[in-house]
This record gives sequence, structure tokens and C-alpha cells, in this order.
Amino acid sequence: MPLSSQLLDSLRNLVGPGEILTQKEDLLTYAFDGTAAMQQMPGCVVFARTAEQIRSVLKLANETKTPVVTRGSGTGLSGGSLPSPDCIVLCTVKMNRILEVDRANLTLTAEPGATTSRIADAAAAIGLFYPPDPGSMKVSTIGGNVAENSGGLRGLKYGITRNYVMGLEVVLPDGEILWTGNKCVKDVAGYSLRDLFIGSEGTLGVITKVLLKLIPKPAAKKTMVATFAAMDAAAQCVSDIIAAQIIPCTLEFLDRTTIHCVEDYAKVGLPLDCEALLLMETDGHPAAVADEAAQMEALARKNGALQVRVAKDDAEATRLATARRSAFSALARVSPTTILEDATVPRSELARMIRFVEAVAKKHRLRIGTFGHMGDGNLHPTFLTDERNKEEMHRVHEAFKEIFDEAIHLGGTITGEHGIGLAKKDFLPKCAGDAQMRFMRELRRALDPNGILNPGKMFD
Ligand SMILES: Cc1cc2nc3c(=O)[nH]c(=O)nc-3n(C[C@H](O)[C@H](O)[C@H](O)COP(=O)(O)OP(=O)(O)OC[C@H]3O[C@@H](n4cnc5c(N)ncnc54)[C@H](O)[C@@H]3O)c2cc1C
Repeated sequence: MPLSSQLLDSLRNLVGPGEILTQKEDLLTYAFDGTAAMQQMPGCVVFARTAEQIRSVLKLANETKTPVVTRGSGTGLSGGSLPSPDCIVLCTVKMNRILEVDRANLTLTAEPGATTSRIADAAAAIGLFYPPDPGSMKVSTIGGNVAENSGGLRGLKYGITRNYVMGLEVVLPDGEILWTGNKCVKDVAGYSLRDLFIGSEGTLGVITKVLLKLIPKPAAKKTMVATFAAMDAAAQCVSDIIAAQIIPCTLEFLDRTTIHCVEDYAKVGLPLDCEALLLMETDGHPAAVADEAAQMEALARKNGALQVRVAKDDAEATRLATARRSAFSALARVSPTTILEDATVPRSELARMIRFVEAVAKKHRLRIGTFGHMGDGNLHPTFLTDERNKEEMHRVHEAFKEIFDEAIHLGGTITGEHGIGLAKKDFLPKCAGDAQMRFMRELRRALDPNGILNPGKMFD
């Protein structure tokens, strides 16, 4: 049912008339996120500037049982910020201040709408480092990163968003404001509620402040690219690197289709005569970096690398890393619809999973580009398709079912970093099992008995 004019007036009073969109042409931009083939019009979009405003909006929504979908920049890849029909989209992008950088405690406090890059830049400005770096970091918000527990290219060595969240301010569905966590390195007082909200995909509360851990910036870094005639050789190279007890900060791969699309798009001079490309980066103390880089180069050559190119300077290193960062955008140019997934398996099963994805694409006559975080076992098989072709979309869906089943069979998961949202909710019960599903549902009911926050997502 469309939102009543009375409710819209109340919202206007709460946030100010300039902070609410209700016209169809304005709402259209908020009717989708980064996920392909999903669209739903909201009832209105509200831009909040303070936690107090969010408290008032949620109280009103709870009283009137109106659905609320929190939105950062809308770059999510599982339909998490896709509106529910006639919902209030609560957008946090105007709450984008960096509130504090605390050098003594190595922490940074920000509002949820600050972009990931601004946080990384604010840390770098005083010689510190915020490692989580989703490919979308120039656009995505820290609130979105926390709500999705986002990963990135440096996950292998430095971990993911969860590893850097020390505290959160959260507005609960009934409007109560809760603070969880602090600047202490150790704190075991009570349940770690902070961890409950990380990765909760906007279903348990609205994050209004984030306290983050920073670390010292590594003194040196070396970047290299190795190409291989077969994906198995690249996968074996990754296994050998890990077995040699080297944990590179980046260990990413692109398959042949992705390499060609990236080169066509970004023109970085990638070699095209190969089946697989590894982007490898090591950072830390200069002596350790030199030693690890030499070992990684030797292991690449031992595994028959066609070419190993070591970046001569920072500019070339950035160019090579950009090649990987632009993989999704590059693939998205070649077909009307790009469906990117993130099935993840234990690293020991990576080569087998990559072969399986190739076989599934062949069986269903689909075009696929695969890239991803090889060091994490996190693959991004990306189907290049056209959502208007219903018959092909059916085949894509079947292919995904098989890929997710195989990931679970190999001890993996249906999502390593993009979340469940709407796109993968049908697959969650198989992955999580009955007991976890019941527990998650009960947790949600306890916090949001009226089910106003992001209804229909994850398992709702
Ligand atoms: C080109 C591209 C590359 C990407 N690369 C990566 C990658 O390397 N690693 C990775 O993990 N992801 C990646 N992503 C996915 C996406 O960028 C991340 O999930 C990101 O964290 C989403 O941030 P956002 O601000 O856009 O959030 P949105 O898409 O707006 O929201 C995502 C979810 O978070 C919830 N949410 C947002 N803000 C809040 C808040 N303040 N409080 C409570 N809930 C909130 C929403 O309700 C929704 O469920 C990529 C996406 C694109 C388009």
C-alpha cells in the first residue's frame, strides 16, 4: 500500500522538507542496487543527518508498521538495499563525517555514510593504515561495509571489515540508541553485541557511528603479475606460496575472459596469451618484502609461469592493481546483464571449484568470466547474460544452483563477502542448516518483533 500523505508529512517534519524524495522520477534511482536483474520502487527516500533523526524515523515506522530499508551507496551485490514495496528508504550518505582520528589509541571514528576510501585516506594522512579495501571502496560507505562485513583484495593477510570494528552506535528498530564496544584492545564484558550487528545486512538495526581500528602503515610493498597457460598451474602456485608460509597482502586471479575484458577496458598492457593471471603483492619490512617477492617469483616460475612482471614503481603497481579492481566493471561492459557471484571454498579445493565452474558454464551454454580472491578461496564467477532472455536466465539460475551446491559440498559457502540479501536467500537454509536458521530468526524477532527493518531479506 502506498505511504499515506499523513506519514509523509510526519517524515518531512522529522528530517526537513529538503531531505525527502517522493516523486517517481526521483525514486527510480533508488529502486535498485548493484545487483543485476532486481528492481522495486520504494514509497519514499529519506536522507538522515543525525542518529536522533534516525531514532525518530524508526519510532514512527515501528508504530505504523512501515518497512524501512537502510541504504548507503547502493553498491551491494546481493540486493540488500533493494527497497521492499512501498518502504521508506533510509539513506545515510549525508552522515559522512570523519569524527575523530585518535593517534594514541590507533582508532578512527566515522559516521556511516563516509566512503571507505575517505577512511583509508584519513588514516594514511597520519601514516596509519585501514586495510579493508572492497573493489567498490571509492563509492561504498563504511556503514554498508559493516552491514555486509565486506572483504576486499587484502583479506588474505589483513582480514575483513569485522577485524577492524571496535565499536558501533546502532539505532534499534524501536528507536533506542545502543553503543557497543570501546577503544580497549581487550573487553570481554558480556556478549559481543558488536559482532551481532556486523554482517546483519540492515535487518537488526541502523548503524549510526563506527569506531575502527587502524594499524601502522607497512614500510614497503612489491607488486607483481604472473601469467599461466593453465588455471591449474596458477592454483598450484597459490598453494605453493601458502605452503612456503608466505602470506601475501594480495593474491588475486583473473581468467582468460576477464583478462581480455579488463585489457580492452583499462588498457594496462596485460599479456593476452594466457589462461590465468595472478596479481601478487607483499608488504611489510623492506627486507622481508624483498625476500618474499623473490620467493613468489621463483614459485611462479617453478609452476611454469609464461611471464612474471614485477612493478618497477608505485605508478606501475597501482596500474596493475587497478586492472584487478576494474574486473567487474570491465565484464559489465560486454553484455546487458552481469550477474556476479561469490561462492567460496577452502583454499585446498580452489582448483577443483574453478574446473567445476568452467564445466557448469559449458554444460548450460553460458558465457562466464571468473576472477577473485584466490588466496581466500573466494571466487567471483560472473555470468555475462541478458535478463530479457528468459530461457537463458533460467539456465543461469540452474548453473548457480549447481555452483552453490558444489561449494557447500566442498565445505565452502554460498557467499564469501557479498551477503545474502534477496539474491541468495533461497540458498541460505541449505548452507546454514535448521538450527542456525531457527536461531537467526529468533534473534531477529527479539530485536524487531514487527519486522520493519529490511523485510524479506536474508531469511524473512
Ligand atoms: C564494482 C564493485 C566492486 C565490489 N567489490 C567488493 C569487494 O571487493 N568486496 C566486497 O565485500 N564487496 C564488494 N562489492 C559489494 C559492495 O560494494 C559492498 O557490499 C559494500 O559494503 C556495500 O556498501 P554500500 O554503502 O554501497 O551499501 P548498500 O549497498 O547501500 O547496502 C548494503 C547492505 O547494508 C545495509 N546498510 C547500509 N548502510 C547501513 C547502515 N548504516 N546500517 C545498517 N545497515 C546498513 C543495507 O540495508 C544493505 O543490506 C563491490 C560492489 C561493486 C559494485
